[in-house]
This record gives sequence, C-alpha cells and structure tokens, in this order.
Amino acid sequence: MILRELGLDRPNREKPRSASFVDPLTGLGNAVHLEQTVFSLAAERANDPAPFTIALANLDGFKPINDLFGPEAGDQMLKEALSSPFALGDRNVRLSASFGFAVYPFAGDTFDDLVKSADTALYRSKRRGRGQITVYSQEIAKEMKHATQLEQALRNAIIAGGIDVHFQPIVDLRSDRPLGFEALARWCDADLGYVSPAVFVPFAEERGFIDRLAETLLRKAARAALSWPEELFLSFNLSSVQLMDPTTSDRLLAIIAQVGLDPRRLELEITETAAMADAEIAQRIITEFRAAGVRVSLDDFGTGQSSLGRLRDFSLDKVKIDRAFVSGISSDRASEHIVKAIVSMCEGLELAVVAEGIEHASEALKLKSLGCGMGQGYFFGKPADADATMRYLSEFYRDIAGVR
Ligand code: C2E
Ligand code: CA
Ligand code: CA
Repeated sequence: MILRELGLDRPNREKPRSASFVDPLTGLGNAVHLEQTVFSLAAERANDPAPFTIALANLDGFKPINDLFGPEAGDQMLKEALSSPFALGDRNVRLSASFGFAVYPFAGDTFDDLVKSADTALYRSKRRGRGQITVYSQEIAKEMKHATQLEQALRNAIIAGGIDVHFQPIVDLRSDRPLGFEALARWCDADLGYVSPAVFVPFAEERGFIDRLAETLLRKAARAALSWPEELFLSFNLSSVQLMDPTTSDRLLAIIAQVGLDPRRLELEITETAAMADAEIAQRIITEFRAAGVRVSLDDFGTGQSSLGRLRDFSLDKVKIDRAFVSGISSDRASEHIVKAIVSMCEGLELAVVAEGIEHASEALKLKSLGCGMGQGYFFGKPADADATMRYLSEFYRDIAGVR
C-alpha cells in the first residue's frame, strides 16, 4: 500500500545510482536521497507505523548574500557550518536557517504529502522571521482545511455575485452634509457566516483573485452611485496587489466607463504601505488615474510604515486620518496634537482631510475646532446597503428642504 502510494514500485523509480543521491556542491544528500530514505523508512513501518520526522530547511537572507557577494560566495557558504560567521572578503557574515518539520504518518503518508506539510510548516517559520522552527500540527492542518473551504466559498460567491457593497457617508464637518460615500465590501456565507473584508480581501490577494473581486465590487458600487445626487463622490478602496499591477488603471477606468460613472466622481483610497511596496509602479498608476480625473486619497494615515516624503513624492488629493488618532481626541492631548499637525500640514500641501472612525459628537466638535474639513464614522452613519443609502439620502434632502 505504502509502496504504491509512494510511487516507488514503478520500474522508473528504481533506486538510482549512488552518485545521483548526492548534491555535487555540498556533498549532502539530495532530493532523490530524501525520497528514497522516506520510502525505506515507510516500508520498514509497513506493519507497525511508528512515527519519523522529515525537515525542510531554508537559509534566511541567503538571496541578498548571493546578490551582494556573487553566487560563488553563496556556494562557498552552502558548504560550511551554519551559525558560525563566514569571512567573505573583508566582511564577516552570519547566516541562520528556518525549519519546517512533518511527522510521518500524521502529516502525510506519501512522500509528496509529507513534503507538502513540511513546506507549509517552513512557510510559517519564514513568516515569523529568522531562525524559526515549526512542526506541522493538527492545528495547522485544520487551518489549511479552513483556508481551502474559505477559498472555494469566496470564489463561488464572486461568480454568483454574492459579495455585496455597503456605503458609509463622508460628511462636511461644518454642516454635517454628506459629500460622498466609502464603498465597503460585505460577505455573509451560508456556512461560514459573516466574514470581515479585513479577512477576505487580503485572502483574495494572496490566492490571486483580487482583480476579479475588485472588478465586481467596483461595478456594483458605481451602479449604486449613479442613483445619488451628482455632486456626491464614490470612494473605493484599492488593495496593495492592485497598486503593484500596471494594468489596474486601464481595467478600473474601463469598468466605470461601461457603467457610465463620471471619473471625476470616483476617489480611490490607497495605503502608504501599499504605495511603498513598489513605489514606482504605484506612482505611475496614481498618475494615470489622476489624469483621467479620478482623485486619490491616502487611507489610514499615520499607521503605515510611512514617511512624510510620500506626501511630497506622490500626487494625492486627500488624506484620511486613521481612527487610532480620532478615538482618543477628546481626552488625549497627544492625539490632539498629532491631528492638529496633520491638518495644518495638509493645509500647506493643499490636501483635503477626512477624520475616520468618529463615534461621538464630542470628537466631531473637537475635529471641527482643529480645522478638519471632513469626517466619517458611526456617529454620522454606519455602512449600509444601497437601498438604505438611498433612504438616508432622501431623508437628508427632505430634512434640508423642510428647514428651508
Ligand atoms: P478601511 O478602509 O480603513 O475602512 C474603514 C473601516 O472602519 C470599515 O471596516 C468601517 O466599517 C469601519 N468603521 C467606520 N466607521 C467606524 C467607527 O466609527 N468606528 C469603528 N470602530 N469602525 C468604523 P470594514 O468595513 O470592516 O473594513 C475593514 C477593512 O477592509 C477596510 O478598512 C479596508 O481596508 C478593507 N476593505 C473593505 N472593503 C474593501 C474593498 O472593497 N476593497 C479593498 N481593497 N479593501 C476593502
Ligand atoms: Ca478605506
Ligand atoms: Ca481607513
């Protein structure tokens, strides 16, 4: 059984000659050797499966060494011991490695499954930093299963049009008048329940179908915006992957053209972290959008791995001050000073300012007194679906008409 699953009963998998078991550079066993060893260990356990463990190792920060000192230096390091410093020319370099372990038969009873599990464990080690060790566990297996379920459900929901868009008002702080709405993705799955966009948007990015998701969302959001008074804008979040893809502007502009939304009514929210991932492409995308009349705002300002230089280098229209500074503003002097500084800096740079996450009247008042022009948050309105947004608008305009 194990023999067949390992695929080693086939004639072309006969034991290779010993020379091909060895990696010529390091003299260590190679992948074929590993496969053969796993096969032998598994075969020994055919009647009484006692566990054994395989490990995959990956050198941390090896690529920069290869790039910096050349592949010969990299090759030389591969031949030596791991944690001691290496002398490369007049420099000493230290290396560390991350490991992923998989225990037979729990983490897989075929060679391929075992390696896949060790690889998953290794990936998790790398994500945690340098010199980390992870053993593929029941918990990881459960998470992997959940991720597969999430991926399938999300793909199906996108195809079936099951991802919805809600809208949250952005108001003029002096008059409380809505100036536009931010589109926020919403998904409630029959089995998984409510899944936050903070979970499924990065997930769609990671699995490579963010474009599809973003295009359906923008189409829905732009259609809804057509029913609003023309002076109201639609603000749409761009994900970091979209800001690294040079085709983004063409594709999104084509969608709003199809729907018939004036690009001057569209704003795109980007984050500093996303803009920094590939600053050159991000800048090109921003320029293309702005040339078409679309405005660009910097979201979550103050929380990213930002530098103020970005505000100078990128041509932007608006800055959204993160909720972290807004929620403490009535009581916390530090937050107040930070907001004050951001507002005056934006004034000098001719950027509009929105404060996010306003939950109380006192926060709105304080922000207004600091000269912040626009606000958004539960105090003014929670995100609501397209129909509720229309009701909100008609009530607002009816009230104004009543006052007049
Ligand atoms: P974000 O862009 O910073 O959106 C603001 C988040 O704050 C939203 O969470 C909103 O519901 C929430 N919020 C608004 N006012 C308040 C308030 O007064 N108090 C509190 N506590 N929260 C408030 P949500 O809808 O869960 O979205 C989370 C994140 O998911 C968004 O953060 C954004 O990064 C991402 N996201 C949502 N929709 C999309 C989308 O269509 N595309 C992309 N790329 N990302 C999206
Ligand atoms: Ca946003
Ligand atoms: Ca935000």
